[in-house]
Amino acid sequence: MILDVSGIDVFYGETQALFGVSLNVEPGEVLALLGPNGAGKTTTLRAILGLNQAKRGRVRFEGIDVTRKPTHEIARLGVSWVPDDRRLCPTLTVARNLSIAEKRTRFRPWSVKDVSGIFSALEYLMDREAETLSGGEMQMVAISRALLGSPGLVLFDEPSQGLAPKIVLDVLATIGRLRDEGIASIIVEQNADVALSVADRVIVLDNGRVAWAGSAAALRGDKALRRQLLGE
Ligand code: ATP
Repeated sequence: MILDVSGIDVFYGETQALFGVSLNVEPGEVLALLGPNGAGKTTTLRAILGLNQAKRGRVRFEGIDVTRKPTHEIARLGVSWVPDDRRLCPTLTVARNLSIAEKRTRFRPWSVKDVSGIFSALEYLMDREAETLSGGEMQMVAISRALLGSPGLVLFDEPSQGLAPKIVLDVLATIGRLRDEGIASIIVEQNADVALSVADRVIVLDNGRVAWAGSAAALRGDKALRRQLLGE
């Protein structure tokens, strides 16, 4: 198991957002985190990244307790993040946005040349300032930046949000390619169809609790269950 989240409670001030959430991810596995607005999906990613530390429970990455570790240390162990708002440095060039993200972990190292092999358009964008990019281009750079962190686990927050359908397919193909490389992913999605098309397993959150856990195949084929869990 590469990630083991066990019974975490997470608060924003006095407000409790997660109640005893547990989940785990195997190397190379794609886990979809689904559920309605405010269910706690982003908060779960933030707890894994150490951006909101769990008050109770444990987060272990590769057996190491990272519950109280700062985010930069968790990143150095091999956890990368593709935030929903991309968070590129707007006035820096694409090349600079990428070079500052490059680091070594115990996982496969990625170079700019390696990510250009996945996103062929990247080489034409290198000298552009990040703020001049389209939404799809920004997502490409955000995923490339995550890979340059040489991750064993990538956390995708709403990867399809605001993107044209063709670009969404490219993003899904990339997540599939990461799986082939043995890199695990967690995908938070509002769009269940997008997540289920690539996920191996699914966790459904509701009001900060795990409401359902099972295989993506089981949820894909069961309209009644999807209606019950996802309100479709
Ligand atoms: P969405 O898709 O709307 O982002 P989500 O499933 O990712 O939903 P979270 O963003 O994790 O849900 O929110 C979980 C709960 O925590 C919600 O009740 C939300 O209002 C609350 N919350 C989130 N961020 C904050 C914050 N910065 N301060 C206070 N409460 C917050």
